[in-house]
Amino acid sequence: MRDILPQDSWLWERVESAYRRVMTLYNYLEIGIPVLEKTALFARSIGEDTDIVSKEMYTFTDTGGDELSLRPEGTAGVVRAYVQHAVGTQEPVSKLYYIGPMFRRERPQKGRFRQFHQAGSEMFGVPGPFPEIEQILMLKDFFGKLGLSDVAFACNHLGTPESRAAYTRLLVAYFQKHSDGLCEDCRRRLETNPLRILDCKQAACGEIIAGSPSFEASRPESAAGELETFIRVLRDMAVAVDVEPRLVRGLDYYTGIVFEGVARGEGGEGKGLALVGGGRYDELVSQLGGPPTPAVGYAIGLERLVDVCRSRLGEPTRPDVFVVVIGAQLEPRAVELMHRLRGGGWRCEFDPRGGSLKSQMKRADRVAARIALILGEDELRAGNVRLRCMAGGEQVDVPAAGLDSALREKLGAPGMEAGHRDG
Ligand code: AMP
Repeated sequence: MRDILPQDSWLWERVESAYRRVMTLYNYLEIGIPVLEKTALFARSIGEDTDIVSKEMYTFTDTGGDELSLRPEGTAGVVRAYVQHAVGTQEPVSKLYYIGPMFRRERPQKGRFRQFHQAGSEMFGVPGPFPEIEQILMLKDFFGKLGLSDVAFACNHLGTPESRAAYTRLLVAYFQKHSDGLCEDCRRRLETNPLRILDCKQAACGEIIAGSPSFEASRPESAAGELETFIRVLRDMAVAVDVEPRLVRGLDYYTGIVFEGVARGEGGEGKGLALVGGGRYDELVSQLGGPPTPAVGYAIGLERLVDVCRSRLGEPTRPDVFVVVIGAQLEPRAVELMHRLRGGGWRCEFDPRGGSLKSQMKRADRVAARIALILGEDELRAGNVRLRCMAGGEQVDVPAAGLDSALREKLGAPGMEAGHRDG
């Protein structure tokens, strides 16, 4: 788990506000869900046999005897809320998004944290493939806003329940022949959840998985058609998307198209950096007690995103005005002036420790203020304040009454600093 320190929090703020803006453009509304849920919710949705549920959840019994877990992902909670509040009876189509911390007790490894953050979206009420096409476009727009234009998507279609059952039988027959080479977990999965073997990260299993039957052979025509439309429409819009026939994703609730997005050229080893995963889960709403409702969603890992975008997000926003006070007796005037400026939208700071002109100017420089406003008896007597541009050092005296327009002339409208504009 890690802290987000003040020198990094602006990056997070910028990534999150870009996400909110893209969500607004696509008319997704934010939903807030608790970080704690009943453990059974995750076991029933993500699946008992997934790594997440079997090994990685922070689970405890509370003083009332309830079995609770810190959420390892967002979809289960969103679906629980959707069912509990009968959202589908008021809105036949719901588009929801969330941003927040998730918890998985993963083994220590680069780029993985035990508290991490995801931004995710879920769309309820519409079958594939257009909702998933829209979601990929949303992702592309969002990554584009952060300066990441080279994101490629891998996708697969998990077929219908019947075709999945037939495919699972093929897999079982194949893996039984190779069971000696499988890891202990996969030998167990062979009995409990054979599809999960495809998601195993062990090298030895990987070799066996590479020779396993692929989804394609048992995919029904309807599913193949859906996947084909998904790929064609996206490629026509210049989105890089390829089929990965053994992609199943690490959660059990997926039913149709599944996808992963990777930032190419990032993360080392030439593999790219996995930023997002998602897919269709048409059975989850009914499985959790709601009416049959088609649904699709994804989750983006924000730690990685913030890291790869670091150099692309420009500079942190800076204070507009640093008030330099010549003489402690003027401090009340400075406080009053800053209050007025802040009321007009200007970000202000001063040095509450006082000190010499030189030390205050040093402080103004340290906090990267754009302009220093020097408040001295002489200037005030003439009804003026002195503005000194921090970059060039030029100074002018301006009438205190016309301060706002003088600042606008020098800095543009308040809140319009580079980082803010498109942040
Ligand atoms: P998942 O919820 O497992 O489908 O993961 C979706 C995305 O969340 C991944 O592509 C990662 O970017 C991110 N992610 C998942 N687990 C972690 C973790 N432990 N630490 C940081 N990011 C994670």
